[in-house]
Amino acid sequence: MMKTEIINYAGMKESMGAVFSVTYGKDRVIMDFGSAFDPEKSGYVKKDDNWIIDKLDLGLLPGIEGLYPAEYLKGYKLRSYQDCDYNSAVFVSHLHLDHMSNIGAIDRNVRVYMSDNARKLEYALEEMKRGVDTIGREYSTFRNMEYVTVGRIKVLPIMNSPYSYNMYGFLIETPDMKIGYTADLSLCYECPEMVHREMEIFRDAHLDVLYCDNCNFDDESLQRFFGSADVDSIIGSSQIPEGMVSFRQHYEYIETLFRGNKGLVVFNHYEREMMDVEKYYQWAEKENREVVFEPEAAWLVYRFFNRKVNVYLNGYENNDQWFRELLENAVIVTREDIIREPGRYYLHNSYGNIDELFRLKTPDAVYVHAEGNPFNSRDRDVMKRKVREAGFRFETYDTDNYYQHGYPNMVKYFVETIAPKTVIGYHGRYPERITAANVRTLVPDYYKKYYLKNGKLTEAVEE
Ligand SMILES: [Zn+2]
Repeated sequence: MMKTEIINYAGMKESMGAVFSVTYGKDRVIMDFGSAFDPEKSGYVKKDDNWIIDKLDLGLLPGIEGLYPAEYLKGYKLRSYQDCDYNSAVFVSHLHLDHMSNIGAIDRNVRVYMSDNARKLEYALEEMKRGVDTIGREYSTFRNMEYVTVGRIKVLPIMNSPYSYNMYGFLIETPDMKIGYTADLSLCYECPEMVHREMEIFRDAHLDVLYCDNCNFDDESLQRFFGSADVDSIIGSSQIPEGMVSFRQHYEYIETLFRGNKGLVVFNHYEREMMDVEKYYQWAEKENREVVFEPEAAWLVYRFFNRKVNVYLNGYENNDQWFRELLENAVIVTREDIIREPGRYYLHNSYGNIDELFRLKTPDAVYVHAEGNPFNSRDRDVMKRKVREAGFRFETYDTDNYYQHGYPNMVKYFVETIAPKTVIGYHGRYPERITAANVRTLVPDYYKKYYLKNGKLTEAVEE
């Protein structure tokens, strides 16, 4: 008899990365397709036609059969898309690299689904050769609350943030199993109402398995939230832990960094975060300022919002199509413009151009580190030092009272409300720490097959 099989490839016992597959016969869906990213290590650089094999060997790409193009796997031990007869599709929850960095390696015949907003940004990045490493393939889109059918498997995308590239969770239904996948989960993030709705959909579906983000269950975070690292004493509740704040409260704090300044405000954001960009425009309008971006960030803003942008060229030049189109749709703001009236601008500055600050010395200048590069601690120290040497006041989004992923008591409340038969802690180093009454906690091994046996998700024994 045919049975649904689940296999895990990334996101288990690690705080980043997410990949698992659900297979029924030859039909297969793969949920997210990123790899763990360590900010303290430098990344892999794509070199030649063997890059897919190189990444497989380095463990950066999961060794999944029937997924990668034959022309890239010549002589390699893994069977290619062309060598198998799987009917596969891949679903991307949101445009963070740990969820989608490897989608460009998938054979062109396999559909890769994401939201329309995410696709818009990925294409805009690829137009500048700043997207994921890719064989040069295209992507498909899904819509909120509309099933995508992959043979006998149905996937329901459930939006839980309408901003920027959007965030999604998924309900996966096969003939014998119902699986919920939260992707990144927080009940007090950008749009809590939508996450509550997702919770109700999962509850009403009577899930066999819930894959649940438990990123913040490490000792340090627990200590911070509850004053104790004792996981067993966590009580499920929908309340934000004392002393912590919600995303909305955190954003009120961020607004104070930008607003009410007399001088120039320089910011360094993660360039695909379009909600931040939307806010900069709103605040700038209230303060009668202009938002100005470096060319590559400006291209994303122009493509995403389809609006004219202010660009700070600072000698930037190239002959690419995107850059020419940008110049046709941009107003150029120069260093002289800024020095003349520094209080009229929010100016984007990426870390690679940080020395420009020394040429923008003006009174009362502020630098806001808005979660952009650098991500590693050594470069961050350099950044802070240079900002201060250039005479800017250093401010940052980072605070001790806000965490982006779910607070553990709220995650527990989420699991208790849904009451799946089995919960799999996902996207965190301690999956065994996610527990709820009458819910089985399972920590699966990588590359092993699991299926339902008497209603219990069980490791399949190879005959
Ligand atoms: Zn994530």
